[in-house]
Amino acid sequence: MPVSEDLFREMKTGGNLPSPSGVALRLIDLTRREDATLDEIARAMQADPALCGRLIRFANMAFNGPRRPVVSIAEAIRRVGLNLVRQLVLGFSVLGHNRLGKCRSFDYSRFWARSLATAIAANVFCLRVRAASAEEAFTCGLFSDIGSLAFATLFPREYADFIDANRDLPPGMRAELERTTFKTDHMELAGAILEDWKLPRFFVDAVQFHEIPESALVAQDSRDYLLLQLISLAAGVGEYCVSSEAQRKEMVPTLVLAAAKIGVDADALDTGINHISREWAEWGKILEVKTQNVSAFQQHASAVTESFANQAAAGSQHASMSMDILIADDDPTIRILLEQTLRNLGHKIAVAVDGREALKLAIDLNPQLVISDLVMPGIDGVQLCQALRDTEEGRKMYFILLTGMTEEAEMVEGFAAGADDYLTKPFNARVLTARLRAAERVIHMQEEAERDSLNLRRFATELAVSNRRLQQAALTDSLTGLPNRRHLMERIEQEWAIASRTERPLSVMMIDIDGFKQVNDVHGHEAGDQVLTKVAALLRQTARVEDVVGRLGGDEFVVICPAANATMGVRLAERLRQAVAQCTLHIGDISRQISISIGVSQRDPAMASVDELLQRADAALYRAKRDGRNRVSGLLEADPTVQTVKQ
Ligand code: GH3
Ligand code: MG
Repeated sequence: MPVSEDLFREMKTGGNLPSPSGVALRLIDLTRREDATLDEIARAMQADPALCGRLIRFANMAFNGPRRPVVSIAEAIRRVGLNLVRQLVLGFSVLGHNRLGKCRSFDYSRFWARSLATAIAANVFCLRVRAASAEEAFTCGLFSDIGSLAFATLFPREYADFIDANRDLPPGMRAELERTTFKTDHMELAGAILEDWKLPRFFVDAVQFHEIPESALVAQDSRDYLLLQLISLAAGVGEYCVSSEAQRKEMVPTLVLAAAKIGVDADALDTGINHISREWAEWGKILEVKTQNVSAFQQHASAVTESFANQAAAGSQHASMSMDILIADDDPTIRILLEQTLRNLGHKIAVAVDGREALKLAIDLNPQLVISDLVMPGIDGVQLCQALRDTEEGRKMYFILLTGMTEEAEMVEGFAAGADDYLTKPFNARVLTARLRAAERVIHMQEEAERDSLNLRRFATELAVSNRRLQQAALTDSLTGLPNRRHLMERIEQEWAIASRTERPLSVMMIDIDGFKQVNDVHGHEAGDQVLTKVAALLRQTARVEDVVGRLGGDEFVVICPAANATMGVRLAERLRQAVAQCTLHIGDISRQISISIGVSQRDPAMASVDELLQRADAALYRAKRDGRNRVSGLLEADPTVQTVKQ
């Protein structure tokens, strides 16, 4: 919100707002005019000898190159250029008039030292960003905190009390308190002052919003956004320069992130800060501003990365799992910070510089965890998540989105696309490890569930196989492998039903081995078992395919002969009898002949049930035994006339 015109007019009338001197104002005006001659400008400047001295010293400064020293003001103006003269005059003049003030708690010397470092930082990094001309960036930086100076000059006593009561507040909160006390805040006031000095609009906005860039309504890829982020970074560097070594260390992560936002990586930031530090010392001499030594940024940066990684390692002492992690971020600083930290924690890391590469790597490497930036060129984080969730493997990956403070709407979109969690940049090691632990827990549980389900599937298959085996076992005679009594009874019921429906004939044979007891008695039970097995095999081989050959128990067998009448049945039985009789069984060293007796019966429509059919076969068998064994006997009629086929 801008300062209301009335309020600003009221402030200005008091004459206490920081402002350039009359000479400076005339100079600024002159340098803007197209028709102003160099002489006119030089003459106007000579009205302020201190200003002339500074400009000549500036023109002769070491960093302006090894050239013949400038002695005249006109030459100094020519060498420096009108644009820069205007900026310098404005800066020198405001500084000259406000080097000291009446606000007892306002550190004027620190303020100017910081503003100067900010100006130089804006100037140096502007060359990389090209958001404005370097001189414009310099002025912007120099006046970035002019609002605070204005409070000190407008309300020396009240502002001193305010400073004493509210040290180290974040800018947003400080601004809110300022508004309750002074009806405006230092950011709005800075905007109003620069506007009053007729600085360009985008300049004014950059200064006004640089402390809370996310509150400015600017498009992310616009020049205004770049300048805003540039001033934000420069102000960070300014504060870095005037801070103690211990404070500087704390500021590194924020600076690295701010730099990354305008495409300045950690190395370039290091080079930049070294350069700024040298220029700051030179400018300090010209403007009589106290500066201090700024140690190598790189040392702090690597110490911070290391301590970040150490903290992360300490925070995840309990983590036992090593994960395959894919990092996707177009910002090299975040990539390096995450990669080093996660590698030190023992995870396997793959890195992608944009969404497209991330998608390819995710499909190729099948990582357990994906940490992806939200805003990336080409495929962004949300689209990457969506694309992965459309694949079977991608659905199982744990997905963490990296978001900026202001990307709340996109974050919601990210969750809708299937992201599991998010991390807001800048993040610290503790938060990162906490999020990793949550990821580990979920991945672990998911993998266990998958293992369980695999085991369950394997178990179910085994169960089905063993059920089938059991079922078969329940219907099979274990010694001979033939259908057992139960199976035989089921089958004969089925055949009975078919026969009664179709009037197809059905015969059964009841078979008993002759003198089997004696085999057991003479050769032992085991030999007896072998005889049973061999007879079973012989019966099976000799019977027709469609006949069901089963063991009823002991030395008794049954053969069900579908579609066979008694005559056929007797013929088939005879074949079986002969097959056994003609065969010499070899059991170990023993060779032995064996014979069987068979009773045959045929289904008769007058029969009440299967039992009757079996009883008839049994009766026929009895007769075969009685008539001398090794023979077939058939009960062909319902009346008990038995025909025995004699051997
Ligand atoms: P028959 O000619 O009158 O049939 O005389 P047999 O000696 O064969 O008399 P029977 O059929 O009554 O004898 C059956 C014998 O079979 C009785 C039992 O000891 C024997 N037995 C029953 N089950 C088994 C078995 O599973 N293995 C062995 N080795 N012997 C069995
Ligand atoms: Mg027998």
